Amino acid sequence: MGPIAKVIVDIATGREFDYRVPERLRDVVRVGSRVRVPFGHRNVQGHVVAFAEKSGYPGVKEITDVIGERPLLDPTMIELARWMARYYCCPVETAMRCVLPEAVRQGETTFKQNLHVQLTAATAGPLELGPRAAKQALVVEILKANPHGMFLALLLRKADVTAAVVETLKRKGIVEIAVKTAERDPYSDEVFLPSEPLPLNAAQQQALDLVLKSADTLEPSVVLLHGVTGSGKTEVYLQAIEHVLAQGKGVIVLVPEISLTPQTVERFKSRFNPKRHGTQVAVLHSHLSAGERHDEWHKIHRGDARIVIGARSAVFAPVNALGLIVVDEEHETSYKQEEAPRYNARDVAVVRGRMHKCAVVLGSATPSLESYFNTQPRDDQPPKYGLIQLPERADHKQMPRIRVVDLREELMRQKGLFVFSEKLRTAISLRLERKEQTLLFLNRRGYATSMTCPKCGYVAKCENCSVSLVYHRKLAQLKCHYCGHEQAAPERCPSPDCRSPQIKYSGVGTEKIEAAVAKNFPAARVARMDSDVMIRKDLYREILGAFRTGKIDILIGTQMIARGLHYPNVTLVGIIYADMALHLPDFRAAERTFQLIVQVAGRAGRGDVEGEVVVQTFTPFADAIRHARQHDFAGFYEQEIEYRREFHYPPFTRAVALLFRGRNEDKVRRHAEAIGERLRAQAGKLALIAGPAPAPMAKIKGFFRYNMLLRTRQIMRLTELIAAILRAAKLPPDVLATVDVDPLSLL
Ligand code: ADP
Ligand code: ZN
Ligand code: ZN
Repeated sequence: MGPIAKVIVDIATGREFDYRVPERLRDVVRVGSRVRVPFGHRNVQGHVVAFAEKSGYPGVKEITDVIGERPLLDPTMIELARWMARYYCCPVETAMRCVLPEAVRQGETTFKQNLHVQLTAATAGPLELGPRAAKQALVVEILKANPHGMFLALLLRKADVTAAVVETLKRKGIVEIAVKTAERDPYSDEVFLPSEPLPLNAAQQQALDLVLKSADTLEPSVVLLHGVTGSGKTEVYLQAIEHVLAQGKGVIVLVPEISLTPQTVERFKSRFNPKRHGTQVAVLHSHLSAGERHDEWHKIHRGDARIVIGARSAVFAPVNALGLIVVDEEHETSYKQEEAPRYNARDVAVVRGRMHKCAVVLGSATPSLESYFNTQPRDDQPPKYGLIQLPERADHKQMPRIRVVDLREELMRQKGLFVFSEKLRTAISLRLERKEQTLLFLNRRGYATSMTCPKCGYVAKCENCSVSLVYHRKLAQLKCHYCGHEQAAPERCPSPDCRSPQIKYSGVGTEKIEAAVAKNFPAARVARMDSDVMIRKDLYREILGAFRTGKIDILIGTQMIARGLHYPNVTLVGIIYADMALHLPDFRAAERTFQLIVQVAGRAGRGDVEGEVVVQTFTPFADAIRHARQHDFAGFYEQEIEYRREFHYPPFTRAVALLFRGRNEDKVRRHAEAIGERLRAQAGKLALIAGPAPAPMAKIKGFFRYNMLLRTRQIMRLTELIAAILRAAKLPPDVLATVDVDPLSLL
């Protein structure tokens, strides 16, 4: 270990700096240590990432101080952050921010400490306390009644006067005080009944065997578990985890934020019991307070919790001796972080698995094309990932029947705008009669998606964004779903020369479905779940609770209801308009549509009655819809992969989206074009480059947007080139560039 430490400071500089390790700190500074260092005229914090014998710089300064007793970061995590910085084209400090959460890195949040106060042995008899010590006498009385001091610990947390009184008592030798650390536990109020492993069916057993075989080798590989909803994937994860724990190793389970429900947590907490398995289950998600996050993190870092279940960022959990990472619903777009570093937690999991030599399991009913592609042999090479299929539901329930309704025919039959086809209307009536439940899905909130004037052609648009304003009827407002702009819905056409009272609202949102249900089925009990309604977090639980207990007949919602819910009495799912994702300007449009239909269909028929799904569409012959109707993933894959091959889209290439934005459109365009030219000149055969051109969302929040899409087979070389060109270009401060590697949204 050389005397020079390479330090990444918290300020984004994109570089490592040399510092001398002073003699007094030689024994404590390690790779991963958090340190204070002089930087310019101030003192900043940073991480030691490596050591060197000597520095190429003259006048190297000294590390001032070390924070904490042992390094917060494992060297592998530093390697992971460095990989992220290169792959996702961001400064390494930005990647480090993910690896060590804010609540831990600043060292400002600490463990909660309670004072436990007890009477000393000498205080057994009656006490002589003066008349001004009434409070002291009271405290002594309380302590006599509560010999363990717990009561007082609670009082002291409230920091009232009591603390000073106790201090006085201590000085007089009447009480003794012990400081105890109290861990915050968001689940401390809940009781988890123990659950036992289920006997696996043959397909599950095969899946478990493959995962364990991978976990037990020296170079474990990734296994893709492709299993229909309800096929028992989670049971396979649970049993694989048990095996890995028994070997003394730790586990990370990633689930999409929206699936991280109390039921999911309960499944893990009730299976793994601290007494029996010698470990706690830590839960990480975005609703934790800084204090809770701090305590969960340290519980994992210390090794008290060897199972971590969490959303995206849990992929960085500091689990010791990591033996397994599970990524459930691996196709989910919420694994992608839409701000720098724009990482995909599924892909980071695969890389972390390789670095730690631990097994990785990806699970999904509708795997991403990228992951499935990796399970296929290619050019005489063996497949990168193992594959196991669970084609049937574990409880032998039938997969729901999917019926497709052609809205073009329906349009000829019914006049004007309608929400329900004849078939869907009949199906809903039948469920109401049989006292079964219905889910209606549409991924668009509001009442109508546009307001126009047929007389003069006026269209209500957002002044800050290039989108139509959405009409919200209950609020009588026009709203922009991108910038939040809202205005009162006008009674007459706003254009001064027209002022026609005949305003036309078109396009359907969830609020309109609610109105259509009320009109068609006045007796039905209805609830709607979308982000307009769900402003209160407890409302989400409230509505789901009411739905579970049968107090709601029809639940209408956006993607909030598309996954995770399984209620046995839901026998009908209606997809009001399946084409919405198909029309996005995105090469994944078909894949998204397929996933959506299959996932939503998975909500139907989880009980004893066979489920039915009604899909309304204007394009019944689109491949995504045809294959989804047959629950035919393999068929869809075969077709879609050909299209990707032909047009050089992922997974045959890696995509990078480059976005430029600013308030001055002309300036944005000029800089985007200049960089486009430089990229074309220098990339040569390295990449296919499209653009720059105005983005599909040409303006958001007053910022004009130009984008480029690059595709390559050598992603690291391309990100290096992009980083170099952007650095050299020195864009003016009012033109912002973002680099999105493996983008999931091309808007
Ligand atoms: P998935 O994660 O694939 O959606 P789950 O693991 O949640 O599936 O299983 C779906 C249902 O089937 C659950 O109620 C679960 O308890 C049950 N189940 C899973 N495996 C078995 C099994 N081997 N035998 C009986 N029931 C099972
Ligand atoms: Zn008009
Ligand atoms: Zn707007």
